[in-house]
Amino acid sequence: MAPPLLSFRVTLPPFLRPTRTAEPTPIRSFSSASPPMDPHSHPKPRVVVCGGGVIGVCTAYFLAKNGAVVTLVEKSSVACAASGKAGGFLALDWCDGGPLESLARASFNLHRSLAHELDGPASYGYRPLNTLSLTVTESQTSKPHSGKSDLPDWVDGPGRSPRTIGTTATTAQVHPQLFCRTLISKAIEDYGVQVVIGKLEEVGVVEGRVDSVVLEGGRAINSDAVVLALGPWCGKFELLSSLFRVYGLKAHSIVLRPKEPEAITPHALFLSYYPAQGGKPLDPEVYPRPTGEVYICGMSSQAEIPDNPEEIVGNLESIEALKRVANSVSSHLREGEAEVKAQQACFLPCTDDGAPVIGELPGIKGCYVATGHNCWGILNGPATGAAMAELVLDGQASIVDLTRFSPARFVTIAKKGLRR
Ligand SMILES: Cc1cc2nc3c(=O)[nH]c(=O)nc-3n(C[C@H](O)[C@H](O)[C@H](O)COP(=O)(O)OP(=O)(O)OC[C@H]3O[C@@H](n4cnc5c(N)ncnc54)[C@H](O)[C@@H]3O)c2cc1C
Repeated sequence: MAPPLLSFRVTLPPFLRPTRTAEPTPIRSFSSASPPMDPHSHPKPRVVVCGGGVIGVCTAYFLAKNGAVVTLVEKSSVACAASGKAGGFLALDWCDGGPLESLARASFNLHRSLAHELDGPASYGYRPLNTLSLTVTESQTSKPHSGKSDLPDWVDGPGRSPRTIGTTATTAQVHPQLFCRTLISKAIEDYGVQVVIGKLEEVGVVEGRVDSVVLEGGRAINSDAVVLALGPWCGKFELLSSLFRVYGLKAHSIVLRPKEPEAITPHALFLSYYPAQGGKPLDPEVYPRPTGEVYICGMSSQAEIPDNPEEIVGNLESIEALKRVANSVSSHLREGEAEVKAQQACFLPCTDDGAPVIGELPGIKGCYVATGHNCWGILNGPATGAAMAELVLDGQASIVDLTRFSPARFVTIAKKGLRR
């Protein structure tokens, strides 16, 4: 029997809704004459987290839960960029054998415990699900397959060679925007996090230690530590770009609402998709959601990232290609059978060595960065946030060894390069 469909009714406070106002909301002011403070000696360190994507939200949540006085600065609205437009797919062991193994495993488990704590299934569509890979060759007619197959009934297009690549023990999903917004609401209500809508312009540094952030318009917020979690926009800050490269990879997605949502079972699909006109196979992903919607993503390319996240729009060709994928995969997702609820694009934050950058910047006490999570930011958000909170408050992370992700690795590379 198909599981009941969930509908989510989240009433958002104004700062969680998209806004074009650059004017920050009032914040507590601190004396600018106060000397720089050591966050490790102050009973309640003041931390400003910049960026309201999944990484910033998780960091703010764990910092505040562990006793910091936290302000989250977001330019537009919480989860307005990749963190609101991602698939929300989670995997326990898909990063095994690589640098992300311990981060991903810790984060998959943290997602499970957060879902328990925050009523994740009801509030942001957390659910374990099965995951299949399959090959789909687009034909001009997209005839449904005939006869019995190992595919779920709704996957009635020309899909073949299905293989189970994840089970309910190893793969799960969240609705990423609802996840971020639920977490920040909890952080505000229970742990006193303040959200300021404003654009970070500058990090104030006095005698080698962070003492404030300055927003567009000149407003300063004093702080003992700053966490820069600006996703691909980290690359726009010289403080960071002089040390390492962060760039954005533009990826597209569509959200469909089929007429018969109860026919769609919780199976995530990873496709090798051969377009009818030939060319290289594509690798789109299809995620049914417990809201009754079906999310499909793919079609990525390197592109210039606009300053304003609200100005990111999808390329028509890429969106059309995703609609053809929907058409080929299932008769339930065809034009006329499913309403298009969203067609959109966003940017994956990428680094040159493919690993995230999580840690304190060399030479600036109290200035931390967390970015470069590429296609696994929703999965790795919780462990990144928990580890960052430990690093800022205790000077060391125990949940995950962050050495591999330290921004200092780029200094070593730069020095080696110079020696050569
Ligand atoms: C199509 C697609 C599908 C994906 N699917 C998955 C998936 O299934 N599972 C998974 O684990 N990951 C997935 N990802 C990856 C994931 O979405 C990203 O890794 C993650 O969202 C990055 O989060 P972030 O917080 O670093 O950045 P972002 O979400 O980009 O957030 C950065 C925030 O910083 C704000 N900002 C920027 N500049 C400033 C400034 N000057 N001042 C204040 N605020 C500023 C922005 O407005 C934005 O809100 C997907 C990504 C894409 C593109």
